[in-house]
Amino acid sequence: MKNIFVKNILLIFVLSTSLISQTKEVQQFVSSMLGESPLEEDLQELCDVIGGRASGSKNNLESVEWGLKKFHEAGVSAKKEAFTVPRFWLENKTEGKISGAANFDVRLSAMPFSISSKNGNFTGELISAGKGTDEELQKVNSKMKDKFLFIESDELKDIDGLFVDYANSARIEKYAIGLGVKGIVYMGSRPSMTMFRHNASLGEKNKTPLFSIAREHGARISRLLNLGKKLSISIKSDIEEKGEYESFNVVAEIKGRTKPDEIVLIGAHLDSWDLGQGANDNGCNISMMIDLARQITKLGIKPKRTIRFVLWNGEEQGMFGSWKYTNDHANELDNHVMIGSIDIGSGRINGFFTNGRADVYSEVGKALKVVSGFGPFNNLDEPVVGTDNYDFMLHGVPNFVGNHEPQVYGPTYHAESDTYDKVDLRQLRINGAVTAAVIWYFANEDVKLPRHKRADVQKLIDNSSLRSQMDMFNLYPYWENGSRGIK
Ligand SMILES: [Zn+2]
Repeated sequence: MKNIFVKNILLIFVLSTSLISQTKEVQQFVSSMLGESPLEEDLQELCDVIGGRASGSKNNLESVEWGLKKFHEAGVSAKKEAFTVPRFWLENKTEGKISGAANFDVRLSAMPFSISSKNGNFTGELISAGKGTDEELQKVNSKMKDKFLFIESDELKDIDGLFVDYANSARIEKYAIGLGVKGIVYMGSRPSMTMFRHNASLGEKNKTPLFSIAREHGARISRLLNLGKKLSISIKSDIEEKGEYESFNVVAEIKGRTKPDEIVLIGAHLDSWDLGQGANDNGCNISMMIDLARQITKLGIKPKRTIRFVLWNGEEQGMFGSWKYTNDHANELDNHVMIGSIDIGSGRINGFFTNGRADVYSEVGKALKVVSGFGPFNNLDEPVVGTDNYDFMLHGVPNFVGNHEPQVYGPTYHAESDTYDKVDLRQLRINGAVTAAVIWYFANEDVKLPRHKRADVQKLIDNSSLRSQMDMFNLYPYWENGSRGIK
């Protein structure tokens, strides 16, 4: 009797001290993200010293070594994992001239995977299709063959605007390329003369000359075309194009104490577009990943499960790094308890996308309780396409993506103006604390949500906005033919 009583007391004591220490650990981890660390210096190095890091570029390779070095200096084991990107594409220089009713030079950037004009120029008459609604496109459908289609745009303010942008260009490109346009020129959606670039709807499969033109120049063209003036464009686009090449993810790891085979993965992408510095997209969250790993090591706290920190590569050009990771780690995916992606800048994390998983939604809600002071948090159980959770979602692995207040994410998105000084450094710290709470929860609580089967994922695709988002980036065929996602 007595013995049993003592044992029970001991058991209760052991249980409660482990609960207390778990609570204490998460509090230590969260507050360490707000204390002294070189997070800002790291970010400035990545942005101002290394600069834009387009996949395939010299800067990109340098950033891989930089990421490795940062983890190693923090005492965290890390390695690079090679993968193949199907098509090499970098812009050297693109220039253009307008002639006809008016003559002036224009500032242009090639959209990714737009083909090179080699040593000559692309030339052709400009045909306006307004903002490219179905009606406007139909009005000029007999005129666009072998011409350059000109599309006006609204100024980009936020993420909703971005998705409208992506959806419109997917629709416009499908229609116009089908009718044999020579090329498409989009009026820039970033303010004034700010240039940007991001993937065309066909991604690396694109073979059409596609450009974005500085907004002020585009506005002049649109005024002239609307007066009925005839204009032609001549574009010299020097692109470095090659076939497949090798790129690298940086994979760092803190081994689990009691369940080392179970993995909680958190990642951000290291690559960016080359015009700016990839500061809000996504350097700020790269420095957050490094700091999360650094603080755990520094505090000497040990998670039950393994925490893997991944700096993804090839994200902007087609989420290639995370896609290849899901192939290369296929027999380990059952052990991926949770994967998270932080990729929407440095505005306040106001919740998480839980990607059509009510069970993830419920657990993320619990995980956020310890940081409720940084709320309110409004989690959204909707699927998001466009960052590195995507292939895990298609593999049925429980996943989340940080949702953020827009801050300057819209106007500077993929633009020259995405520079170090645009990052909200104070908020980045707080976002780090919030992310710490979420990953610590999944790395320590007795929660292991089931991996979904192909039929479950198909159901999600069919019954949510996932299908239309996949279509925006021409991703559905890869799911259908089994090259991306669970078999
Ligand atoms: Zn991004």
